[in-house]
Amino acid sequence: MERFGAAWGSAATLRPNYAEVVVETLPIETPIDSPIEQRRIELASGLRTGAIKNIQWIKQIEKRKEGQRHAHAIFSMDSREDANELLTGRVVVQGQVLRAKKNNPDPKRCAKCNTLGHIAECCKVDNDTCVRCAGKHRTSTCQVTDQQLFCTNCRKAGHGAASRDCPVFQGKLRERSKWDAERNYRLFVTKDPNTWGRMNEPVQEDFNQRWRAKVSEKYNEWTTVQRGKGRGRLAGGEPGEGGGNNTWKDPGTRTPTPDPDTGNRGQSRGP
Ligand SMILES: [Zn+2]
Ligand SMILES: [Zn+2]
Ligand SMILES: [Zn+2]
Repeated sequence: MERFGAAWGSAATLRPNYAEVVVETLPIETPIDSPIEQRRIELASGLRTGAIKNIQWIKQIEKRKEGQRHAHAIFSMDSREDANELLTGRVVVQGQVLRAKKNNPDPKRCAKCNTLGHIAECCKVDNDTCVRCAGKHRTSTCQVTDQQLFCTNCRKAGHGAASRDCPVFQGKLRERSKWDAERNYRLFVTKDPNTWGRMNEPVQEDFNQRWRAKVSEKYNEWTTVQRGKGRGRLAGGEPGEGGGNNTWKDPGTRTPTPDPDTGNRGQSRGP
């Protein structure tokens, strides 16, 4: 992570443990905390030793359904490269080949009022709002049938506040993709052009030829821009040249290109 930060310039603000991968349906008996098991998974999945830093179940064990045999887990990887290996290779846990995807957290939803955008600890309303019918009661006491669902966020019938199909939820997701540029990419973006494929598109097919040629010619000159307020990262190309999602491109936010004389440029990575 430090090496990565150095390569992107000191302005880079990277979240710790950002290289998180969700691995789906691990057998619940997998001893995920055990370093021996972690080394076993690395070996079986063709990862280097030490690639896995930590594994955690996504949901609390107490919240599992009765008879549940499998659960999703978050793998915190040592580097973005390790995370990409996991995403593109065969993930093998306890002899089973499993699916892996980037950990892109959903917008927060309050456990008390079920509004999107804050958590219960920060909730400012006094009453509970039901996730199923938007009534002023706790979800656990809700009486409505699945045919009577009503969403407190978009104020429409047909789904509850936890639905991913809710237009308000979908709007929050789109909003987030604007400042969290990395979300738009299938892999963790590194200096390797193979990682520049966008979500739901084949690797490398999203950039136009001109932009890509320019970038591959001088992709060491990564420019890092501030994150968090509709800013993203740009690589080499000029804004508006088709390099990715235009919604997060902002010509006014580029930081100066690193000075070649100071050597403050992206270093090429070791193996
Ligand atoms: Zn709330
Ligand atoms: Zn209800
Ligand atoms: Zn809704």
